[in-house]
Amino acid sequence: MKTVTFPDGRVVPALGMGTWNMGDSDSRRADEIRSIRAGVEAGIRVVDTAEMYGSGRSEKLVGEAIRGLRDEVFLVSKVLPSNASRKGVRRACAASLERLGTDCLDLYLLHWEGSEPLEETIAGFNDLVEAGMIRSWGVSNFDTDAMREVKSVRSATPCAANQVLYSLDYRGPEFDLLEYDRKTGIVTMAYSPLGQGGDLLRAPVLRRVAQRHETSLGPASPAQIALAWVLRDENVLAIPKAGSLRHQHENIAAQEIILTRDDLAEIDEAIAPPRRKEPLAMI
Ligand code: NDP
Repeated sequence: MKTVTFPDGRVVPALGMGTWNMGDSDSRRADEIRSIRAGVEAGIRVVDTAEMYGSGRSEKLVGEAIRGLRDEVFLVSKVLPSNASRKGVRRACAASLERLGTDCLDLYLLHWEGSEPLEETIAGFNDLVEAGMIRSWGVSNFDTDAMREVKSVRSATPCAANQVLYSLDYRGPEFDLLEYDRKTGIVTMAYSPLGQGGDLLRAPVLRRVAQRHETSLGPASPAQIALAWVLRDENVLAIPKAGSLRHQHENIAAQEIILTRDDLAEIDEAIAPPRRKEPLAMI
């Protein structure tokens, strides 16, 4: 199982799980909870949520899903920029902890950059570390220049992660952001690695490459190739969202796939890597 290492030395599997839109539908709720629990029981540790998702519904569902499993989970949530003042992060974090039914987050991210000065937000994050409410902090949707700004802020604890849109649909971060994060010891978390289950999974190149691979579940699928591709980078942690057991098991099995040089070349031929800086896209 591929792993990534956070600046404080904690090591987690490079495959995690997302939970955006979970908890929004009563008819899917039981499947979503089963999917998260199965993931954790299979050794996936990172569970990603945010106060924004369903205005707290995702956090509540995650809290229910990880009951009794909290110690196995590396729990990540995010604060909205509108709550990111020094005092605001404390209030928002307390509310997230309440919904999640826990007393500490493993990682707390600023969801995207807003108008609050970074110094304020980072001071708030350090207060939370000191209070034992979070173990580490990071950012999301920050491009390379914004990461330089983060690095320039004096902070008692380091930025641990940058969560960005990164998939075969959005290869922009390969130009310089992935390298910047790696060399500054920051883990890149790739969100929407499956292109949100859309057109990407119908890309002919993914079908062709999938035909050359197998996992313990049988012939590989285009989604598994898309995920294996994101996971090929040693500093990237991917957080696909799987609302069903079938998808969760497929995503777990995707970790078995090692793409060959020929596979990677064929993918590059069909979906070119960035040749110049592209502004970071976000969903
Ligand atoms: P993903 O790229 O993870 O795609 C999720 C979609 O793919 C769902 O429709 C899911 O269906 C489907 N899917 C999952 N596994 C498979 C599979 N093996 N085969 C085929 N289809 C599959 O999109 P998300 O936007 O959900 O991104 C993942 C996570 O990243 C979010 O849930 C959230 O936690 C985080 N995120 C963070 C953002 C940020 O600003 N920081 C922004 C967006 C996302 P089903 O649900 O039916 O299994």
